[in-house]
Amino acid sequence: MTDSSIPDMMAEARRGQWTDQQLAAKAVELAESILKQSNAGMRGKEKRQAQQMERMMNDPAGKAFTLALADRVFRPSSPARGAELFHYLLDGYGVPRYLSAADRFAMKMGGRFSAQFPGVVMPMITSQLRKESSNVILPAEDGKLRPHLRRRRKGGIRMNINQLGEAILGESEAHHRLQQVVDRLTDKDCDYISVKISAIFSQIHLVAFEETVKLIQERLRILYRAAITNAVTLPDGSRKPKFVNLDMEEYRDLHLTAEAFKRTLMEDEFMQLEAGIVLQAYLPDSWEEQMKLCAWAKERVEQGGARIKIRLVKGANLAMEKVEASMHGWAQAPYGTKAQVDANYKRMLHYGCMPDNARYVQFGVASHNLFDLCYAMLLREREGVRDQVEFEMLEGMANHQA
Ligand SMILES: Cc1cc2nc3c(=O)[nH]c(=O)nc-3n(C[C@H](O)[C@H](O)[C@H](O)COP(=O)(O)OP(=O)(O)OC[C@H]3O[C@@H](n4cnc5c(N)ncnc54)[C@H](O)[C@@H]3O)c2cc1C
Repeated sequence: MTDSSIPDMMAEARRGQWTDQQLAAKAVELAESILKQSNAGMRGKEKRQAQQMERMMNDPAGKAFTLALADRVFRPSSPARGAELFHYLLDGYGVPRYLSAADRFAMKMGGRFSAQFPGVVMPMITSQLRKESSNVILPAEDGKLRPHLRRRRKGGIRMNINQLGEAILGESEAHHRLQQVVDRLTDKDCDYISVKISAIFSQIHLVAFEETVKLIQERLRILYRAAITNAVTLPDGSRKPKFVNLDMEEYRDLHLTAEAFKRTLMEDEFMQLEAGIVLQAYLPDSWEEQMKLCAWAKERVEQGGARIKIRLVKGANLAMEKVEASMHGWAQAPYGTKAQVDANYKRMLHYGCMPDNARYVQFGVASHNLFDLCYAMLLREREGVRDQVEFEMLEGMANHQA
């Protein structure tokens, strides 16, 4: 397929005559074409990063080492403690095979000297790690983040900011994190943020469902008010509130998040606010929740309220859900196979692209699976919902494809 035939394919999809099977076959063709074109346009640095990522994915011990290092090395209270952790990981996993010869040598030297000179070696290791992850984790400091946000906006890409941080253990941390998100909303260069309820409220108890929902609502009101107060001025002079999206993490939070989201947005103060929520296709419950949210969104709009947005993802918490289930002897909350997850993703994709749902619920298709993205690109054309269905990808993961 050539570059110029992609618009032809979109036009053909818009004629609405393709069956789902034909759409799937065309999505494979489209994916091939996009892959070829995006690979051809890849810059040297992106190619090297992709190759390193590929080598890491084929090196299980190296991957485990890198994840553990990234997870722990930023946390220790002192360089000496960091050096201890670094040694512990090196002893357990060995120097990762996927690294280049020079990096393997540097890591071996780091291992040898970090115990003797932790104050010198550990900051070097931390800084190297920050450099390596800088394409996927942006620095939060204004001086570095702001120019990046402006560049992206110029390129027609809306940036959704997700403030990273460790697990929230108590209420003082929760308040601190809530304040960070509110501060981010006051930033004129940020108009879209994502936050999960477990990052802004520490006392989630499912046996006290009603009480927990009420307390989460208190936090949501603070965020939604900040979104309204810090509205952006559009080119036509009108004011548009900033966008707050509720991310999803653990299964236990799904119904709580959805309930607090719906109840808060039905309050007079927030009826005109557009806000979003994530649904994870790997949870069988998400499909039912999508139907409920669509029905509720329709009612809200009919009562004079604004639309909402649903972002569809597959779910990133599989390992933790497995551990949680095995600790209690429960069946795991997510589906047991990738094929089931992919099938549910398609089912939810179809539901979200139905014109009668897309009218009330803006739909965000979030994935890095090029086949799913291409299928969704063609489906939204076939269903005539191009303006209501958008695509979301993670910064730095596959920029050439995005
Ligand atoms: C913009 C954006 C926002 C995101 N926000 C969130 C969020 O709020 N919450 C969240 O949880 N995730 C979020 N994710 C991550 C997402 O859930 C996926 O983990 C990630 O996108 C990989 O899925 P894929 O479709 O890109 O790739 P694919 O390779 O097609 O799918 C990988 C996914 O399939 C599922 N899977 C794989 N193997 C199995 C198995 N054996 N059994 C069951 N399931 C399996 C898992 O969900 C896995 O993540 C986000 C992703 C993007 C791009």
